[in-house]
Amino acid sequence: MSYRIPPAEVLAEAIKEALKGRAMVVSQRRLTELVTKKLKEIDPSYTATEERIRKLSIDSRLAKIEIHAREADERSRAGRCPVCGSKMRRIQNQTIFGGTVTLGHKCTKCPYWTGLRKRIPVRYVFYGDDYKSGPSETE
Ligand SMILES: [Zn+2]
Repeated sequence: MSYRIPPAEVLAEAIKEALKGRAMVVSQRRLTELVTKKLKEIDPSYTATEERIRKLSIDSRLAKIEIHAREADERSRAGRCPVCGSKMRRIQNQTIFGGTVTLGHKCTKCPYWTGLRKRIPVRYVFYGDDYKSGPSETE
């Protein structure tokens, strides 16, 4: 059996369909199962990775994402967001002496943030359109 990579528009459509009528999907694995089912209805050879589905969901604003993370021992660094790959910016605070101090980093696109110690994402929850009350914004 050969596999094919669906174009972004097709994958976005499958994600939309998978989330339709659902308040939330409790893990990235579960979302991938649901999306894969929709993809196979379009073309049985279509396949997509968990990471691609997560990134496209964020990029195309198809779902609200909640990130559960654990704190690692290593220090956080600026650079790319581990969740969506976008740029991160420094979270800074003014000191009483007029300078600034870096408290951590946050993503410019998704809710990921990290303090001085690196936060490693361990689980994702996805909220579809039907989640009326809405999770509280993290920004
Ligand atoms: Zn991000």
